[in-house]
Amino acid sequence: MDKINNKSFLRTINIHTDCTTAWKDCLSIIKESVPHITYNTWFLPIKPVEISDSALKVQVPNGFFVEWIEEHYNTLINKTINEVLGDSGKLIYTVLDDKKNDDEINVIIKDEEKKKITDEISNQPVVSPTEEPHETSLNPRYRFENFVKGEGNQLARAAAYAVGENPGETSFNPLFIYGGVGLGKTHLIQAIGNKILEYYPNKKVIYLSSDLFTVEFVEAIQSNSVNDFSNRYKSMDCLIIDDIQFLIGKEKTQDLFFHIFNTLHQSGKQIILSSDKPPKELKGLNERLISRFSWGLTTDIQPPDFETRIAILKNKSNSFGINLSNEIFEYIAHNITSNIRELEGCLIKLLANSSLNGKEIDYELTKRTVKEISTKRHVNISIEYITNVVCEHFKVDENKVREKNRKKEVVLARQTAMFLSKTLTKSSLKTIGLHFGGRDHSTVIHAHNTIEEMITKDSRIKQSIEELKNKIEMSI
Ligand code: ADP
Ligand code: MG
Repeated sequence: MDKINNKSFLRTINIHTDCTTAWKDCLSIIKESVPHITYNTWFLPIKPVEISDSALKVQVPNGFFVEWIEEHYNTLINKTINEVLGDSGKLIYTVLDDKKNDDEINVIIKDEEKKKITDEISNQPVVSPTEEPHETSLNPRYRFENFVKGEGNQLARAAAYAVGENPGETSFNPLFIYGGVGLGKTHLIQAIGNKILEYYPNKKVIYLSSDLFTVEFVEAIQSNSVNDFSNRYKSMDCLIIDDIQFLIGKEKTQDLFFHIFNTLHQSGKQIILSSDKPPKELKGLNERLISRFSWGLTTDIQPPDFETRIAILKNKSNSFGINLSNEIFEYIAHNITSNIRELEGCLIKLLANSSLNGKEIDYELTKRTVKEISTKRHVNISIEYITNVVCEHFKVDENKVREKNRKKEVVLARQTAMFLSKTLTKSSLKTIGLHFGGRDHSTVIHAHNTIEEMITKDSRIKQSIEELKNKIEMSI
């Protein structure tokens, strides 16, 4: 009789008489539990077909889908189905277009719909499956065990490992790790946090980005609770702050951080920081902070060499449960060279393309996928198009950016368009200058530097430039 009182059991009888609602409820749970790209790749293409006796029948594009989902998301699926359909809930897969497997299927996803799904996936920005907002908590997937060692990250990794084993007790306090985007800073500093919690489950570890720290601080000011805010951080055993460069230009936050830093450091608590630049180059950051950052160990992460790229690709594809030939690994590693996030993105795209088209991952598909990624990154974007998108964004007349107009908003639009032209096209500085009313190359450099500085100082500008960039890249 217990079961009758079970909420999900009642929900089953009352609500889930139609398969669409049932699957929709499942999707909303799944969406919360997996990264966005996983959700879009593996779950969104699934269509509900029918429901009877708490067995929900769904249709998937091909057999590979079923294998993949069962292998990687079986627990999640079971848990979800039980939650939505009760303990006796079941999910039954049928394969699209495979009449031999299931004669009853009469819902066939139309070609347009299929195309829409494929388009949706190929329009995904290239991101790694582990790229999620982290807020204050650690992501358990970032571990030393899945961090591939290489020449470029050797010292950083070794120091990080030592800190993970003995937080606050090495001379690496603070540990300051810097390097370019997508090279593993976030992964490494979170791996330290996870290691500390593994060895010392009672220690209080907090991870957050400096942006979030600022936002919380502002909220604390507004709600008159700055003391609570500051005490909370001062009570930690380990404070991990990512992307510390975003404190630039935020004087008050820097002041508060300075006090928190001192309290923690004096009582032997561990501080771990990451940044895109070494402390000395963080112009606009308070000198007293910069000098404290150098008290412990400062170490960088360099882009991975060819062998490390191969090792990373092998490691990731293992964790995805796929086997690729050396030829394929080498092709990717030769062509995607400077960013580990893109290496991962490439594997995901390959998987998505292959599973949606029901084709094995072969050399041809790899070539096409790599090309898609590089195309998105650089070529074929015209300076005209960039100017057009930027002017629309800033609501500025396109002709004005080509004229000698010094109005503030026109200058900002012009400099942004120049910056994006330099970043997203292979055009020379001279060519870019010519597109903006025949300005010379030094003006383009100046524009580029100005915007770059604004990006490091102001996270809102950083965000709007990212949005513009995505918009432009998506359009190809
Ligand atoms: P950053 O913070 O430097 O921009 P991330 O830590 O977010 O970079 O790394 C980008 C992606 O690449 C993440 O998914 C991360 O797990 C992966 N990654 C980076 N370095 C390594 C490595 N050495 N081994 C395995 N995966 C890595
Ligand atoms: Mg990061």
